[in-house]
Amino acid sequence: MNTIYVARRILTMNPANPEASHVAVRGNRILGAGTLEELAGWGEYRIDEQFADKVIMPGLVEGHSHVMEGALWRYVYCGYFDRVDPDGKTWPGLASLEEVIERLCEKDQQMDDDSAAISGWSLDPIYYGDARCSRFDLDRASSTRPIGILHASGHILNVNTKTLELSNLMRRGINHPGIPLGEDGFPTGELKGPDAMTVAGVHVGFDREFLSCDETSMREFARLCVRKGVTTAADLANLLPDDAVEMMVRVSNEESYPARIVSLRRFQNLSPQEMIARALELRETSTDRLRMGIIKVIADGSIQGFSARLHWPGYYNGAENGLWYTSPEQIQEIYDLALESGVQIHTHNNGDEATELVLDCMERALQKHPQPDHRFTMQHCQLANVAQFRRMKKLGLCVNLFPNHHYYWGEQHYAKTVGPERAQRMNACATALREGVPLAIHSDAPVTPLGPLFTAWCAVNRLTPNGRVLGEHERISVADALRTITIGAAYTLKLDGEVGSIETGKKADFAVLKDDPLEIGGENLKDVRIWGVVHGGRVFAASDI
Ligand SMILES: [Zn+2]
Repeated sequence: MNTIYVARRILTMNPANPEASHVAVRGNRILGAGTLEELAGWGEYRIDEQFADKVIMPGLVEGHSHVMEGALWRYVYCGYFDRVDPDGKTWPGLASLEEVIERLCEKDQQMDDDSAAISGWSLDPIYYGDARCSRFDLDRASSTRPIGILHASGHILNVNTKTLELSNLMRRGINHPGIPLGEDGFPTGELKGPDAMTVAGVHVGFDREFLSCDETSMREFARLCVRKGVTTAADLANLLPDDAVEMMVRVSNEESYPARIVSLRRFQNLSPQEMIARALELRETSTDRLRMGIIKVIADGSIQGFSARLHWPGYYNGAENGLWYTSPEQIQEIYDLALESGVQIHTHNNGDEATELVLDCMERALQKHPQPDHRFTMQHCQLANVAQFRRMKKLGLCVNLFPNHHYYWGEQHYAKTVGPERAQRMNACATALREGVPLAIHSDAPVTPLGPLFTAWCAVNRLTPNGRVLGEHERISVADALRTITIGAAYTLKLDGEVGSIETGKKADFAVLKDDPLEIGGENLKDVRIWGVVHGGRVFAASDI
């Protein structure tokens, strides 16, 4: 029998039928949206009134997050901002490095095993003045057990002396761009980029398996999705070894699993040829709730970590240019092969020099292997200028911008990293729309908290925590922002034919809201209360998840 849901308002994101009062569902798919009379024609039905006072939108689509967020919650939260865990509990932010050390000391005292590691996450030393966090700071929490704290950007790991010893890094004269040395000639304890982080990560709970995601992360992450109205989320940089894939297929197939995960295989540890073969194999293994087959390439690092590649004149505070995480030659090679084989690639490029490299590689690859609908997507792409957006349009690239940065690091971008002018053009959502580049926006959770409506609020208002509007001309309308977190993000994942709008034939995936995002107004968008989701016709309330 069909189910017809009645709602206070249904915002469909279907341009031909933008609003409705009812939506009819058969099994896991939508029969249609319209009036009760129109939908009754589909045959026998029962009316479901549980959302009669709610607003229904298409299930929100997070186009760039990491399932790993689910697992991080078993480690010590060391972030500057308050943050809500999968149970709905709020962890207070830490205002100083002293407070971080205190929280680590508390953890140390709670632990029985003296040699067990303390792992933490979301450290953000940029808030704690000019001094970087060093091994000496972390040694104050413990000098006997290994400690490793992942930065909020995910691109830097801070470790204590014990961890350096265990990793065979506690020696003088190391010559590696990702391992800065102190005045004493020993590593400072800051490890930048995947090479350096992996060596020490195994001793502090950030091993390969962890970064691939385990069963707990799959489950906890999905609970976060329900709380935020998300029904499809991209897991943007997974190594996807066979055992992880098997587990992810099994868990996501459970009848009670409330999310669809699109997991991208990170380009690492494989040659370009092997990578393409693996992507094709993964595509074949996909199920409805676990989609695979897209490749993630990481071109550079993060702007706030000063590891992004910037064009002249570089960082505002004079910091040295960042790092190539994948060599330009390898990026060219994998683009060539991917276009030839019909495999989609999403590329992390933060700095404008990295964006230019991606554009150049793409242009050359397309000359060799023209592809009418490749949907290669620029991820972050935070510093792109208008000329670069024009090239994206010409080359058929999509862009997934990161407006949460304005709230989390806007003041630092203005004062330290890129300076006033470029801080205002960062995450140029209005330019992307004006130039016709398909646009999504994202949280990069765990880098910033999962929550597309919060991300939409950031894109609409571009406020820093101090209340400064950073780039007023790049603000977008609420209607545009709501499109980017539904059909816009779905397009970048090649899922816009299945999800992202409420229309006949699509998956019955809904975000169920207690407030109307259009009525509440742009300045309050982040405060829209979320009841839960409907996923493939199954109902999940955030309160019971
Ligand atoms: Zn990411």
